[in-house]
Amino acid sequence: MGTRILVVEDEPGIAEPLVAHLLRDGFEATSVGTVGDARESVAQVPPDAIVLDVMLPDGDGRDLCRELRAASDVPIVLLTARGADADRIAGLEIGADDYIVKPFSAGELVARIRAILRRTGRVSVRHVVEIADLRLDLDARTLTKCGTPVTLAAREFDLLALLMARAGTVVRREEIMDEVWDPHWFGSTKTLDVHIAWLRKKLGDDPADPRYITTIRGVGFRFTEPQPAG
Ligand code: CA
Repeated sequence: MGTRILVVEDEPGIAEPLVAHLLRDGFEATSVGTVGDARESVAQVPPDAIVLDVMLPDGDGRDLCRELRAASDVPIVLLTARGADADRIAGLEIGADDYIVKPFSAGELVARIRAILRRTGRVSVRHVVEIADLRLDLDARTLTKCGTPVTLAAREFDLLALLMARAGTVVRREEIMDEVWDPHWFGSTKTLDVHIAWLRKKLGDDPADPRYITTIRGVGFRFTEPQPAG
């Protein structure tokens, strides 16, 4: 059985891409939108970790956090729209393992969840993606090419992880901005091209004759499909 993550968030614009990201990363993820449904879901099938929004339509996520913490040591990451330090500290005092302030990238949140699961010994299987001569370790957040470490910045790592997870398919620019940057990104996507250029340089990939990342002009990017074994 896989690692189950319960997302408690009433905004579909946040919950849906997050669940999609978790599923693609190999987690079993479901979402509920209310405190009541969260209680029911936890009672039926206890999750391995919970992502919990503070502002829910039928109650305060922090109260639910206290309640869950009193009953179990399941890792909890709070989602908060508030940036005030007092709120952040309050989040940890009520027993949350971590918190993340909205808006956040799904990639960053999933990385935090992985870190907590690793710390609490709840995940034993290492999550590794291997394509061609690249080996991406999603737990250690490291990349090797032909066994040699390649140092990536956090954003470059998330970008490569997304493209490799969807190898062989075109990932649209807007999807990348949503997942790697910020779901409420309204600015220019030029930063994406800059990061792709940096990533290509580190991978030694020639955009004119790409081995890994192909530009689909005006649409997005496609990572080379893995070759079948043998
Ligand atoms: Ca909410």
